[in-house]
Parts: sequence; structure tokens; C-alpha cells
Amino acid sequence: MYNPSISGVKANSTANSRLYVYEIEGLGQNGEASNLNVPIRRSGNMFLTVPYNRMNQEMKRIAKLGGKIVSIRPLVGDTIENNGSAASTAQSASGDTDRPMTQAKPKEQKKKVPVNIYKPKEPYMGACLSNDELVAEGGIGTVRHLKFDLSEGDMYYLEGQSIGVIPEGEDEKGRPHKLRLYSIASTRHGDDVDDKTVSLCVRQLVYEDPETEETVKGVCSTYLCNMEPGTKVKLTGPVGKEMLLPDDPNANIIMMATGTGIAPFRAYLWRMFKEAERQANPDYRFKGFAWLIFGIPKTPNILYKEELEALQAKYPDNFRITYAISREQKNEEGGRMYIQHRVAEHAEELWNLIQDEKTHTYICGLKGMEDGIDAALAEQASKSDVDWEEYRRAMKKNDRWHVETY
Ligand SMILES: Cc1cc2nc3c(=O)[nH]c(=O)nc-3n(C[C@H](O)[C@H](O)[C@H](O)COP(=O)(O)OP(=O)(O)OC[C@H]3O[C@@H](n4cnc5c(N)ncnc54)[C@H](O)[C@@H]3O)c2cc1C
Repeated sequence: MYNPSISGVKANSTANSRLYVYEIEGLGQNGEASNLNVPIRRSGNMFLTVPYNRMNQEMKRIAKLGGKIVSIRPLVGDTIENNGSAASTAQSASGDTDRPMTQAKPKEQKKKVPVNIYKPKEPYMGACLSNDELVAEGGIGTVRHLKFDLSEGDMYYLEGQSIGVIPEGEDEKGRPHKLRLYSIASTRHGDDVDDKTVSLCVRQLVYEDPETEETVKGVCSTYLCNMEPGTKVKLTGPVGKEMLLPDDPNANIIMMATGTGIAPFRAYLWRMFKEAERQANPDYRFKGFAWLIFGIPKTPNILYKEELEALQAKYPDNFRITYAISREQKNEEGGRMYIQHRVAEHAEELWNLIQDEKTHTYICGLKGMEDGIDAALAEQASKSDVDWEEYRRAMKKNDRWHVETY
């Protein structure tokens, strides 16, 4: 990509006042163009005039919005009169008139998703900014909300993607540890809505070795959960296209989470409902229906409880939460209440919602949680003489069925 430092343009005051024209593709269809204050033209590609001293910033901003710069050329004979303070201006190649944006097709959206900006051989070194416990007193285990600084590099991501973490140290064979993936828990703008951070929600893995009966602690989750703020961490990615949120603000979003499976859904829900996010994304005013079905062992294990419930109270018509609290609630048969029991309980409503083409269903969390959910939905679908397996396959093909379990 273009780099002003190797462009032959010297960074002196004359150079600073020069203007460059960026030709950008990929923003006209996905509703992000207005974040650049660029009118949307029928021709698709857009032309943005950028002063020299804002080139890097604008490149990052365009990339973050999912656009691709296809060419950069100097605007010959043109400089900024007013000391470089002029805002970017846009021109249309064709002179087309403005028109409302259309919804991007899922496949087109996927093409614009950032992937592996940082790879394991050259990871991004991000400082841990905070590390807070999410499990309240009386809860089971340790789950931490960690925020990392991304302000120095080119890393950016979308809601639903994951970040790789390479823990310090070596494995038992003396090789550097491999990366572990963690779902991103923040929106693309980060928790401070300044595009400078990424947050993760990490459960410390602790189990008893079945042979030795010794307590074993997971390498990377322990490394992260015990991390002191200020520590620099090797981060890779982002990766993942399975759990992306549709751009359509009228979509219905069913979210089924167990434990840290809440991470991507926190990002979605913050994007949909958090006030600062709504201000940062004037083009995305969520008007659909979001339903979170959240499985946890005990009430103190409800991660992000206060914030989720505050959003629900503020948007009762657009957001519903259903908990399955296994060790506190009983299912119909008197056993523990797991997520599949809640799905079975609400199967008719869920099935009706799922049949709406605007509905996307997401499952995230513990491996194996799909089976019970599948069984509950299959039973309901069969009442309408529908083969659930087939129906689910069709949903998957249409990008309406999304699963990420680990
Ligand atoms: C796409 C994706 C997203 C993810 N998102 C998150 C997330 O948001 N939050 C999160 O906390 N984790 C997430 N994970 C899981 C995460 O990547 C790690 O696998 C997890 O943190 C454990 O890594 P570790 O290094 O601590 O454990 P390791 O030291 O790698 O130990 C894991 C190994 O321990 C063994 N083991 C584990 N449990 C048992 C058991 N009960 N009995 C016997 N052996 C056992 C298994 O061999 C397992 O492979 C995600 C995984 C994927 C693939």
C-alpha cells in the first residue's frame, strides 16, 4: 500500500499543504461511506481529497471502514490555502447524484473483512491496559475482561472476529508456545470508542488431570488471567468470518451463549445499543430484535450482567435476555437448567423468528452446546413438517446460521 515516507514527497510545509486524491472502492455499498463524509455515488468508487499531513490517518480510517484504496495521485497544482485545516472533500468520477445506500450482500461484506494483519512471526505487541474480574463473589472460576492497546499499529477488526494471543515461554518440548484464539468482546471501536483498543473475555482453564489427578492450569488463559496491566503481549489476527454481524439494522439477531461465548455478543449488543456506539455509527441504528439466551452455572457467573440488563431495560422492545442458570434453576424434568432447555421452552417463538429471512442465529461457547439446541429446534420444526437438518443447512448457506464453539 502507498506509504508517504517512500513516495518521494518530503514532509516539509509545502508538502504538507499538498493534496492527494484517493480512489476508494468498497464503501458505497456497506453504509460506511458517510463516516468519511463522502457522498455516495452510483458509480461505486469514490474519490477523496486528502491533505498530505492526514494521509496516514485517512488510510487507516478507510481500511477500518472496510474500504480499499485502489489509487492515489497528487492533485496537481492544488494546495490547501488555510494551513492544512481543510477537511477532506469528495468528488464523483461520474458526477452521479447521491442516492440511499443499499445493503451489502453477505459475501461482498466478507471480502472486506480484515484477516491476519499480524501473523505469529511478526505479532503486534499490545500493552495490557486493564484486567478485571467478571465473576462476582460466590461464582465459579475466574473470567477476566482484558483490554489491550492497539494505538501504535495497523490492527483493526470487526465485531465477531477473534484475536490470537501467543503466551510467553516454551512448551514442554522447548518450543515457543503456539497462539490461542480469543473472541473479541469489544466493538470495532473498542471499549473507549476511540478505535485504539481491543477487549477479550477469558476464562482461566483449570482441570484435574485424569491420570495424575493433579490440578492443571491452561497455559494461555492463566497467562492472560494473571496479567499485570502494562505487560506487552504478542497479538495476532484478527481472524474469523463466521460470526460477523450483518450490516442490516433491521435484522433479528438470536444469540445463544455459554460462558465466555458471550464475548462476540457483547460486541454486537454494544454496537446495537450503547449510546457512545450509536453516536459513532450514525448509519447503524439497530431496529430489529435481539434475543440473548445465556447459559451460566450461577447468578454470579452472569458475565457483564449489569450492563446487559441496563441495555435491556433501555430497549425492552428490541432486546430480550433469557438466562439458563444451571445450578440454580430447574428444567421441566427437575434437572439442571441448561441452554437447550430454555430453547425447548421457547421453541415455538424461536422457530417463528428463525423462519423470518431477516433473522440470524448465532451460537458461541462450549463445544457440544449445539446438539441440545439442534434437538430442541428439530422437534419444533417437525411440527411444521420441516426437516431441521435441511433447514439449518439452507440457513447456513444463506449466512443466517453461525456457530463458533471451542
Ligand atoms: C475461535 C475460538 C474462540 C475462542 N474464544 C475464547 C474466549 O472468548 N474466551 C476463552 O476463555 N477462550 C476462548 N477460546 C479458547 C482458547 O483459545 C483456549 O483454548 C483456552 O483459553 C485454553 O487455552 P490454554 O492455553 O489456557 O490451555 P492449554 O494449556 O492449551 O490446555 C488446553 C488443553 O488442556 C486439555 N484439557 C482441557 N480441559 C481438560 C479437561 N477437563 N480434562 C483433561 N484435559 C483437559 C486439553 O488437552 C486441551 O487441549 C476460543 C477458542 C477458539 C478456537
